[in-house]
Amino acid sequence: MLSTGDYSIAWSILLTLSSIISLYISGYAFQRKYVNGALELSFFLLMAALFMISGILEVNGFYLFRILFFARAGFFFATFTVPAFFLFTLKYYKDRDLHPGLYPLFLILSFAIGFAGLFLRSGSLLYREFWLEDRHSVPSFHYRGGILYYIQLAYLISLSMASQLLLLLKVFKSRGKVRKQSLFVFLGSLVPFINILIFPERIAGGFDSQPLALGVMGCFIGISLFRYRMLDLIQAAREKAVDNMGDGLLVIDHSGLVLDINRKGRELPLLEGFTLGRIYPGETRFGTYLSGFIGRGRDRFDPDRALFREGGRVFRIFMSSLSEGRGKGKSGYLIIIHDTTEMVNLVSDLEHHARIDSLTGIYNRRHWMNLVRKEWDTAVLNKSALVLIIFDLDHFKRINDTYGHVFGDEVLRTVADRVREILRKTEILGRYGGEEFCLYCAVEDREQAYAIGERVRECVESLNMSREGVPVRLTTSVGVCFGCPDGEERLDSYLQKADEALYRAKGAGRNMTVLYGDGEAGS
Ligand code: GH3
Ligand code: MG
Ligand code: MG
Repeated sequence: MLSTGDYSIAWSILLTLSSIISLYISGYAFQRKYVNGALELSFFLLMAALFMISGILEVNGFYLFRILFFARAGFFFATFTVPAFFLFTLKYYKDRDLHPGLYPLFLILSFAIGFAGLFLRSGSLLYREFWLEDRHSVPSFHYRGGILYYIQLAYLISLSMASQLLLLLKVFKSRGKVRKQSLFVFLGSLVPFINILIFPERIAGGFDSQPLALGVMGCFIGISLFRYRMLDLIQAAREKAVDNMGDGLLVIDHSGLVLDINRKGRELPLLEGFTLGRIYPGETRFGTYLSGFIGRGRDRFDPDRALFREGGRVFRIFMSSLSEGRGKGKSGYLIIIHDTTEMVNLVSDLEHHARIDSLTGIYNRRHWMNLVRKEWDTAVLNKSALVLIIFDLDHFKRINDTYGHVFGDEVLRTVADRVREILRKTEILGRYGGEEFCLYCAVEDREQAYAIGERVRECVESLNMSREGVPVRLTTSVGVCFGCPDGEERLDSYLQKADEALYRAKGAGRNMTVLYGDGEAGS
């Protein structure tokens, strides 16, 4: 039969071991104080260790006042453990800083309870009674809690439950190492919780089992720290980076099993139906798209086809194959889904502005030249005829001066709109600059070329514009250059000829079409 004294020694050894472990882990956590929650965890373990040390001293107290003192000191430290652990779990769960007001709230509350425990006497609200029992010559502390004792017990139990709930949620919401970390911390947190439900007061022999339960919990936390690298800064940083990145991230293995989706990925409608631990849905649009690449290997992944459109958004898809080791072949795929809608819109906006004149909505000179150069080359190849026309509004300066620039702009828009209406699809209209326009058409002969010039002139003449009820007469002079370009001739020379014809039209009284070469020929 073991005597109470033997129990005391065994108890002291267990508590000493536990406190050493807790102090060690507390120090380890403190060194990583820049990692989220490390400081709170370190403080929790320190308080737990001091609770254990008080337990050792209490068991070996021998004198009433010492036993009482250390029992109360233990109670004091114990009141800090639960809120400290709660603050840790809250921070660990949320993965960001807490409201600074939470710290004094919990610490002051704990301090008040612990402080009361230091001084309240037997028969008070905290202890209904406490007494020493002398068994086998070893005195031990016993008490029956008062109303305050049970209130603080309820407070601590509810806070523990909240911590456990947060840890459990963390287990469910995280994956990989983080999931295992939180699982072990959760399991550890169950130990003192279950213990206090079974032994709300002291166990036989007057021993307080709670410090030892906290020691066991410390071991679980140790597993989480050392085995699953909780508080590992690089690991934590990577997890955080992946979860906070603006791109969706998806990991699937070679069989199509979804291994990982980050936070952004879970928000993306195109990944709807992609569930962790399940085969990805091959029947959704994105699933079908993925199936086009997976299984055929990365080499077949065509970056040009890496744009995926859904719900008015454009995504760029980056895919790379993963291998678990050299020579093991492809074991999975990492897919990054980057929303590039803004960029694509911006580029198409820029392209639009680079091609289109913003006032009139027709091609600007640069783009008109590009298009016409292509037509020119085709005409050279086919030995076909073409016409280049430049027309310039007559006395446009006067219109500006008389009616203002705003009206002048409106005139330019109207001219562009109406001329465009009378053209065929293959005919290319552009704004040459200011109030000059340019036009390219494929034609059969000079007569047809001239006729087009006339059509434009008549169109402008018949515009019937008016300003505040007063009709505004508008005419244009048209320079036409017809030809069948050979390989020697250049587009620029044709434009120059059209310009010369235009100049002659102006000189001859405006509102006129002049075909280059006609005047010289005497017609
Ligand atoms: P002409 O018959 O000899 O061509 O006489 P003009 O007055 O039309 O010729 P000029 O080249 O001297 O004047 C062109 C005017 O067109 C001058 C300029 O203020 C005006 N202009 C050029 N671009 C714009 C524009 O975008 N909006 C407006 N409202 N006016 C413009
Ligand atoms: Mg003009
Ligand atoms: Mg001009």
